[in-house]
Amino acid sequence: KAKANGKNNFQFFTAEMDEKALKRRALESELRLAIEKQQFIVHYQAIFDTEKNHIYASEALVRWQHPEKGLLSPFHFIELAEELGLIADIGEFVLNTACDCAASWHKSFDNAPSISVNISSMQFQRDGFLESIENALNKSGLPAEKLILEITESVFIENDQKTITQLTKLADSGIKIAIDDFGTGYSSLSYLKKFPVNKLKIDRSFISDIEHNHENQALTKAIIAMGQSLKLEVIAEGVETRDQMQWLKDSECALIQGYWFAKPSDHEDFKTLLFKHNLRR
Ligand code: C2E
Ligand code: MG
Ligand code: MG
Ligand code: MG
Repeated sequence: KAKANGKNNFQFFTAEMDEKALKRRALESELRLAIEKQQFIVHYQAIFDTEKNHIYASEALVRWQHPEKGLLSPFHFIELAEELGLIADIGEFVLNTACDCAASWHKSFDNAPSISVNISSMQFQRDGFLESIENALNKSGLPAEKLILEITESVFIENDQKTITQLTKLADSGIKIAIDDFGTGYSSLSYLKKFPVNKLKIDRSFISDIEHNHENQALTKAIIAMGQSLKLEVIAEGVETRDQMQWLKDSECALIQGYWFAKPSDHEDFKTLLFKHNLRR
């Protein structure tokens, strides 16, 4: 294309860059509009307890109902939302929606699952974050003990003192903290004793070939053992097959999340799943 136009590669490259910048700018204004027009929805994915045979928790996963492009996964917009400083608006919507939903499950089920909400580090560090959590709990009536916040190790790299203060306040109120994508971050493990953390979610990359990959088996076993000795609950992410589930169960990791048990679904379908597995009243 560059040659046909009689242009050199450098110009071709800048044209491509321009196109990228244009696309980004378009997405940027679409994203701002999406917040205004409330085009976000929340899907729910079960975290299943293979020992107790019930749904232990549910992870809230945001989607963008784009008017032309259809349902967009967070990979298409979370990073941009962070860069534009819009993540807190989206995050607050997810938090409130998820707490409302979970509170409604608690009205119908004795053993209703906890709700697990992803919090980006930017959202976590933002002023007013604790108040937004408090609001979501008060408005929904969800008990604090039933809320899990999923943070990544990147949170521990930033502002140490503020992180400790916030996590301690959250823990004191009964809220649970899970480390998401565990095993993929760069921070030191010492944060596990310094901060009040309750759960580790083993990253999907360790699980995807766990039946065959001896290194991933060794690492996963080490994480499970560490969880046991530090009294942290361990959840395996991205469990897609029966064999993976069985390997984890045999290795004393009973909590699993992944397509094998259930894909993320809307509130209605998730409730149907709950009726099937957690109805005990
Ligand atoms: P995550 O928190 O690690 O969530 C798990 C992701 O893995 C979800 O992707 C889920 O749909 C997908 N997944 C679950 N089981 C399987 C499986 O068996 N196989 C495969 N291949 N994938 C599986 P999703 O929904 O596209 O979300 C991607 C990421 O976007 C999340 O990763 C999370 O980091 C972020 N995210 C999602 N919702 C929110 C939110 O409300 N706020 C923030 N800040 N981030 C969010
Ligand atoms: Mg997560
Ligand atoms: Mg994860
Ligand atoms: Mg993630």
